[in-house]
Amino acid sequence: MITIGIEGTAHSIGIGIVEDKDGSCKVLSNMIKTYRPEKGGIHPREAANHHVAHVADLINEALKTADISSQDIDLVAFSQGPGLGPCLRTAATAARALSLKLERPIIGVNHCVAHLEIGRGMIPDCTDPVLLYTSGANTQVIAFAEGKYRVFGETLDIGIGNCLDKFGRALGLPFPSGPKIEQYAKQGERYLELPYSVKGMDIAFSGLLTAALQYHTKHKRLEDICYSLQETAFAALTEITERAMAHTEKQQVLLGGGVAANQRLRDMVSLMAEDRGAEFFVPEKSVCVDNGAMIAWLGFIMYQSGVRMELKDTIINQRFRTDQVKVSWRD
Ligand code: AMP
Ligand code: MG
Repeated sequence: MITIGIEGTAHSIGIGIVEDKDGSCKVLSNMIKTYRPEKGGIHPREAANHHVAHVADLINEALKTADISSQDIDLVAFSQGPGLGPCLRTAATAARALSLKLERPIIGVNHCVAHLEIGRGMIPDCTDPVLLYTSGANTQVIAFAEGKYRVFGETLDIGIGNCLDKFGRALGLPFPSGPKIEQYAKQGERYLELPYSVKGMDIAFSGLLTAALQYHTKHKRLEDICYSLQETAFAALTEITERAMAHTEKQQVLLGGGVAANQRLRDMVSLMAEDRGAEFFVPEKSVCVDNGAMIAWLGFIMYQSGVRMELKDTIINQRFRTDQVKVSWRD
């Protein structure tokens, strides 16, 4: 069965085409176009206009790369939430149009759950992980427990990627700033004290961001600030992930989201896993970032488990919570 997935929760419009190969996910194509504001953060309407401008061409490109015709598609999936309203509506509209034109079923999926399921779908040994999902807007620790994907810990304010990007923007670094901060951090020599905000199982980043910016105002070495920012934020993320693993008694940890590209974060989480005798997984980068293949894959496994949607069920949900998803495809 061949599924096309349309991702459009925030700055990226992604089209992925996947095929089921004996229960695991084979990606036939996975194209992404990212909206980059000239200055400032993401304006939802501008990002949505960007997606409108590119979605049709991207679908054609994805079909061409996958070397299939539109008639070969069996199912259309799209990101139903959470995310920015105008962006979600654009992806949903494209998916509805495609589903009607091709006369194929449509399924709306939860973006955060897709980040986890693509890891399970593409890494054969990764069966029941705790997911540390670190992206621009989202930061959550998610695991399957008693019939649902539950959020064991999450940010109380901004996502970790947002924290890095805001810090970078204030300093005039290009967007996204995460990779640049990682480079500076490698040259860091001195740890500067920063607020470490773990609250129960949750986490907060805005105090950390303010304090890091204050060090910049005081002309502390940029490399040392970046190093300290990473060490503090990633240690806190690792701590809440470990607590979720201990609580759920799971022996696997999976990374997802754009910040999972960061080697220092990978090293910290993998060391924690090793200490616990647990397995550490990180999918390849193209399916870690926001992408259409993960949307297609989750749509497929939902469909396969019997989920069906009418057009009236495809209304977007900006605040679609991970634990609102009825999980019918595993136990
Ligand atoms: P996503 O929202 O999942 O597409 O991820 C985008 C976020 O990942 C942005 O906030 C980037 O700054 C961040 N990011 C990308 N590469 C890295 C990296 N090497 N280190 C830290 N953050 C990164
Ligand atoms: Mg994401």
